[in-house]
Amino acid sequence: MGDSADSTDFSVAIVGLGIAGATVAFGLLSRGISVKVYERAPGCHEIGAGIGMSPNAERAMLQLDPRIHAVFRQVATPNTEDWFQYVEGSEDSGVGDGEELLFKVYLGNRGFEGCRRADFLYELTKLLPESCLQFNKELVEILDDNLGFDGKKTQLRFRDGSSAEADIVVGCDGIRSQVRRHILGPENPASSPGYTHKFAFRGMVPIHKAKGRLSEDKCSTRYMHLGENGHALTFPVAMGTLLNVVAFVTDPEEWADGEKLTAPATKAEAARCFSSFGPVVTTIIDLLDEKLDKWAIFDTYDHPANTYVSKAGTTCILGDSAHAAAPHHGAGAGFAIEDALALSTALQEAKAVLKSSNGIEKRLVLEDAFFAYEEVRLERTRWLVESSRFIGELYERQVPEFGRDHDRCLPEVEKRCRTIWDYDVDEMVRNTKTSFKAKIEGRRS
Ligand SMILES: Cc1cc2nc3c(=O)[nH]c(=O)nc-3n(C[C@H](O)[C@H](O)[C@H](O)COP(=O)(O)OP(=O)(O)OC[C@H]3O[C@@H](n4cnc5c(N)ncnc54)[C@H](O)[C@@H]3O)c2cc1C
Repeated sequence: MGDSADSTDFSVAIVGLGIAGATVAFGLLSRGISVKVYERAPGCHEIGAGIGMSPNAERAMLQLDPRIHAVFRQVATPNTEDWFQYVEGSEDSGVGDGEELLFKVYLGNRGFEGCRRADFLYELTKLLPESCLQFNKELVEILDDNLGFDGKKTQLRFRDGSSAEADIVVGCDGIRSQVRRHILGPENPASSPGYTHKFAFRGMVPIHKAKGRLSEDKCSTRYMHLGENGHALTFPVAMGTLLNVVAFVTDPEEWADGEKLTAPATKAEAARCFSSFGPVVTTIIDLLDEKLDKWAIFDTYDHPANTYVSKAGTTCILGDSAHAAAPHHGAGAGFAIEDALALSTALQEAKAVLKSSNGIEKRLVLEDAFFAYEEVRLERTRWLVESSRFIGELYERQVPEFGRDHDRCLPEVEKRCRTIWDYDVDEMVRNTKTSFKAKIEGRRS
């Protein structure tokens, strides 16, 4: 994929090459818009273990650039069941091989398949032109004050002392986003996500090790194990050769490692945390490596951003940098891809307006595109942050009006899942175009 010949209209700097950065880069390049991606890591790096993509995410991939979807299908592991199974994880439940099916939610054919995040990102990155990727570039500052687009672009400054310029900046730099800090201000509490008082042990178990100790079904499809103050998710990845395990616990303490979101842990610590759980969950924990990582779950629930666009109108944020949610819906990456589609659509419309020599200043056209993106994304993404907190608490019996009443939990879980999975991305694209058009027409009148 090369930069298109007419991509000189405006330049876009993308900060961060996670799922948000990679997919928005695809979306813009395939719409003939020039991008450069600045990533602080030395190369495409392994983080994040297993990840699932819900149907809304797949539909957004298809519209953004079908090659993204093809890559996902190449690395995704199909589930053997069309249902997401919610089972009792606590000790007092044991029936059969130790589990009671509490309820199940229909995923659809090939819905919510898992992959290793690193595989997905690696394959995506291979398809991006090398000329648009810059590694070892940690953004430390953005200068966009006194901005004029005639000669004075937005400037990005990096840790290594180098700098770059672009017409507009798209922050995809994750939960500890520098770009978010730039947009909201360092003193703003919304610049710093807060600890949700949950962390997760994450690991991947070779299937040959898991088989024999867990049922066939457990090794080949998606399960959520509910319990008191803890819950565990399992699903197969890497073409069914690995079982991805994410075991969450509630933590009354503060997260001790400050800025670092992961900390070393041991299987013994995980076993202590899940000692009151039933035999299936304790077996899953026992299958993990002796040395593990635990991941602090931070989110933007307490202080959500009230805007995703800078005052100057030249910088915006998407993905976790805009709306980091706890991962209990398994939807953060999918929402980043929806964001990428909305933003790419808005900037494509902006490009068309600029080509039509309409006389509106370029800076204003691009600003309108950013605000059209914000308009269609703010409410849904804020809802995800709220709902993710809620659902994590529901899974751990911490919502008093639901408790262990699974007849009440099912419709609640289902309603929230459907809000995520059944999202109409076509309508989002139409709304983005309508919003942008209205802003441009407002300038003409
Ligand atoms: C335990 C857990 C399980 C999850 N499971 C799922 C799931 O099943 N499905 C799902 O959809 N989501 C899931 N998520 C959420 C998902 O991982 C995130 O929402 C998604 O990866 C966010 O992508 P991003 O690109 O916005 O941010 P990131 O993946 O964090 O990427 C940010 C990138 O920016 C770079 N960067 C950071 N700072 C700078 C800087 N200053 N300069 C330059 N580069 C910088 C980083 O190195 C990184 O490459 C899960 C999250 C967790 C913690």
